[in-house]
Amino acid sequence: MLKTINTVGISLALLASAFSFSAMAQDKLTVGVDTAFVPFEFKQGDKYVGFDIDLWNAIAKKMGVEYTLQPMDFSGLIPGLQSRNIDVAMAGITITPVRAQAVDFSDPYYNADLLMAVKSSATGINKFSDLAGKKVGLKQGTAAATYMKAHVKADYVEFPNIDNAYLDLQAGNIDAVVHDSPNVLYYVKTAGDGKIKATGENDSVLPQQYGFALQKNSPYTKRVDEALKALRADGTYNKIYLKWFDKEPK
Ligand code: GLN
Repeated sequence: MLKTINTVGISLALLASAFSFSAMAQDKLTVGVDTAFVPFEFKQGDKYVGFDIDLWNAIAKKMGVEYTLQPMDFSGLIPGLQSRNIDVAMAGITITPVRAQAVDFSDPYYNADLLMAVKSSATGINKFSDLAGKKVGLKQGTAAATYMKAHVKADYVEFPNIDNAYLDLQAGNIDAVVHDSPNVLYYVKTAGDGKIKATGENDSVLPQQYGFALQKNSPYTKRVDEALKALRADGTYNKIYLKWFDKEPK
C-alpha cells in the first residue's frame, strides 16, 4: 500500500515538474515585429524602439512572460502567426474583419487614418482622389495598399519597407506616398528634413484601429487584453503615448 502511494507520489511529482517546465517553455514568446514603422517600431543603433515596443514591454511585464523580438517584413507577420513561427505580432497592425479570420487581435490600442506625403513644393494634391494617374508609393500587404488600389486609379509602386518609398519621393522618383497617418506625420517631422510634407488631413478615408495580433485562439489573447486594461488604468499607457506623440491620447 505504502509502495503504491509512493509510486503515485513520485509520478505526481514528475507530472508537476513536467507541467511547470512546459509552462515555462511556453511563456517565452516570440514576437514578430515590423522592421520600420516610425514611431511604433524602428531601429535606433542596434536596438528596436517605439510606441509598440514600449507598450508591449509593459504588457509582457504585467503578464509575467519573457519574449524575444523577431524583426521581419510586415507582409510576413500574419503568415508567421498562421504557421506558428511567432506567437505575437506588433506593427501598428490595423484590425480588419479579413485578418481577424486568420488571427486573434487584442483590444484596440491606437486610432489612425491614412495620409499622403508629397514634396514640400508640390501643389494640387489635397485629396486622395487627386492621386489619380500619379506615381504613388505604398507598402506591401498593408491596409493602405489594399484601400488605395481598390479606390484610386494610380500607378502604384509597392515597397516592403515604407522608408524606401519616402526616399524615392525625396529623390523625385514618385509623386506621393500613402501610409498610416501617425507614420506620415512622424516621418515628415523627423527624417523628412523639410523636403516633404503631409497632406490629406481633411479627407478621412480609412479610419482604423491598431491591435496586437496573436495566433488564432491563442491562450494569451485574454491576458494581453487584461494587461492592456491595467496599463490604461494605472497611467502607463498614457505615459508611453505622451513619450511618442507629445500629447495625451484622446
Ligand atoms: N497599419 C497598417 C496595416 O496594418 C500597416 C502598419 C505598418 O506599416 N506596419 O496594414
